[in-house]
Amino acid sequence: MAYRRKKGSDTWHWCSNCSNWPTSNYDEQYSKPSSGELCNECQAKEKAGTCK
Ligand SMILES: [Zn+2]
Repeated sequence: MAYRRKKGSDTWHWCSNCSNWPTSNYDEQYSKPSSGELCNECQAKEKAGTCK
């Protein structure tokens, strides 16, 4: 699973169906981010089982 963070933002996303999923100008890493914020929407999708 990839984590993406838009440059200049502190929020990490990991669901490609998140409405804020960065598609350009982002940083990407494959390990769980140790700093910054985790996206609320991505967390909600994961809980609901709809994270893609
Ligand atoms: Zn998100």
